[in-house]
Amino acid sequence: MSTQTKSFKTEVSQLLDLVIHSLYSNKDIFLRELISNASDAIDRARFEAVANTDIQEPEGGWKVKLIADKEAKTLQIVDNGIGMNAEELETNIGTIANSGTKAFLKQLSEADAKDRPELIGQFGVGFYASFMVAGKVELITRRAGEDKAWKWVSEGDGTYEVSEAERENFGTTITLHLHENEDATDYTQEYKLREIVKQYSDYIAFPVVMDVTRKEKDEEASEEGEDPVYKDITSEETLNSMQAIWTRNKSDIEDEEYNAFYKGAFHDYEDPSKVIHWAAEGTTEFKGLLFFPKKAPFDLFYNEDAKGLHLYVKRVFIMNDCKELLPSYLRFVKGVVDSSDLSLNVSREILQNNPLVRRIGKNVTSKVLSTLKTMQDKEPEAYAEFWTEFGRVIKEGMHTDHANKDKISHLLQFESSKTEAGKTISLKEYVNRMQPDQKEIYFLSGESRQVVENSPLLEAFESRNLEVLFLTDTIDEWVIPALDTYDEKPLKAINRGGVDLDSEDEKKEKEEAKKQAEETYKPVLDALKESLKDQVKDVRLSDRLTDSSSVLVADDSGIDANMERMMKAMGQVIPETKRTLELNPGHAVMEKLKAMVEADASDERIAEYGELLFDQALLTEGTPLPNPAAFAKRVSKLMASV
Ligand code: ADP
Repeated sequence: MSTQTKSFKTEVSQLLDLVIHSLYSNKDIFLRELISNASDAIDRARFEAVANTDIQEPEGGWKVKLIADKEAKTLQIVDNGIGMNAEELETNIGTIANSGTKAFLKQLSEADAKDRPELIGQFGVGFYASFMVAGKVELITRRAGEDKAWKWVSEGDGTYEVSEAERENFGTTITLHLHENEDATDYTQEYKLREIVKQYSDYIAFPVVMDVTRKEKDEEASEEGEDPVYKDITSEETLNSMQAIWTRNKSDIEDEEYNAFYKGAFHDYEDPSKVIHWAAEGTTEFKGLLFFPKKAPFDLFYNEDAKGLHLYVKRVFIMNDCKELLPSYLRFVKGVVDSSDLSLNVSREILQNNPLVRRIGKNVTSKVLSTLKTMQDKEPEAYAEFWTEFGRVIKEGMHTDHANKDKISHLLQFESSKTEAGKTISLKEYVNRMQPDQKEIYFLSGESRQVVENSPLLEAFESRNLEVLFLTDTIDEWVIPALDTYDEKPLKAINRGGVDLDSEDEKKEKEEAKKQAEETYKPVLDALKESLKDQVKDVRLSDRLTDSSSVLVADDSGIDANMERMMKAMGQVIPETKRTLELNPGHAVMEKLKAMVEADASDERIAEYGELLFDQALLTEGTPLPNPAAFAKRVSKLMASV
């Protein structure tokens, strides 16, 4: 057959035109595309070799070879894969069958001209990417199992030529005649090729090799006492590590291998605390290899976008930090997802709205959540360590991932009035050890364990052996409303509204006692209401105190001390809200006050005692006193008077 000149299909011409005439943000990807094609071709040859004994593994093994010629300014990509016959050449290179490429073209034609370079940079354009770096591309290919070879040549100008050719073995050789303008990257440089292969094709399962020449001392030619004589030694070096560890069988992989891969790929000095390796099958097929780091990075809360998942398609690197694969609250997870369904030509834009990617993301999220649950159940100590590092981010999910809210609620851990400092329990554990007639889950929020632990509000709960969760994390204030109930038990803040702890009989009894106490102390309450009217909304008797004399409580809907502190920290304007001062009718100070009011209602000490009770309530909940000097003065005066 003589040489035939043919025209590209319109869409190919369109594509080539764009590839050649637009500016590219990243030309290096041409090599990724060609190596990926070569690797696919080898995959297919290996597959056919299983059934067809005429096809055998080539001497030297399956591989992709790069041959750079500095003088000629050419770069060759040679593979010993399946190759193409004339027909295949015609349909594969010359038309666009790939739907990804078609979609790409459509998007390009719709995009603003100024956006095009970026778009091209983000897309893989397959074989045609060659024309980003080469003015002329030659391809010689011979299909495995056939004798004839074919040559395809094009200068990307709308036409290509096909002719019969010679090739010793099956496979494909692509020769790129590289552009020569001054600012063009030199793709014949060894370091450049190494760099690109390392970045984009490191995990390709076949060796990507290159002949490398090094100077070595020539022992024979070198004379003793003279300067050594050097000779050039050329050897074939493999540029990629080929460690597509996630494609291997889990049972064949040692922990050390996982750890080494993790540390290398994700730049950590420590081993991961958990490795998850699985193959998803069914509606979407992909391999996932995920890691939980041991320590939280310093910017976990500043850099909410940083996601550690790398996306591969059939072992070809597509992108770092693929946002669509992990929700923000799981941003600490590192790893790799390798899809066999996605097309190599995916862009960030396509990823955003791709149902396949969404499905993968869902699957990854469930896998992480179920692994955490198993860890919590089976390895409580490891989970506790994990929780200390990453619990806060997980809590964000209560607000952001409605679909998984229930699953996340089981993962939550809190300290409580019955745990040692630093130890946490799950809500399930809490519920399991609730008192027989306890109906609510009690919690108290505050700045630190020390503050909540010493809160007078706990007294009534402790005397009844009721456990109270300590919410000392800033984000808890947002988590709890998202939760509302757990296991059908409402969550109840013990520093808000009334807390109902008594049985019916007890209530009746208390009601009586309270009525009496209210009568007894009415003059005291009235006097303090008047003197503290600028600070508090109301002054009343408390039924939640046993030892302490006073406490401040918020309305069910009001802002409590902890929230106020957080809002201030965030620089928010806080509406002025007054809380209610509750006094302990069983405390001796009440008797004293009563005596004072009865003796002389205008006694100055009454108001001073009121101030002191208010300040004490502030102090015990961890709120700084508005006027500490005045407080100190009052205390000293009181000390001197007894
Ligand atoms: P894609 O790889 O996304 O399908 P390309 O334009 O890169 O798109 O390639 C088109 C087709 O050409 C491939 O699907 C494959 O069938 C064929 N092809 C490309 N390169 C090679 C190669 N090195 N060996 C064998 N076939 C190849």
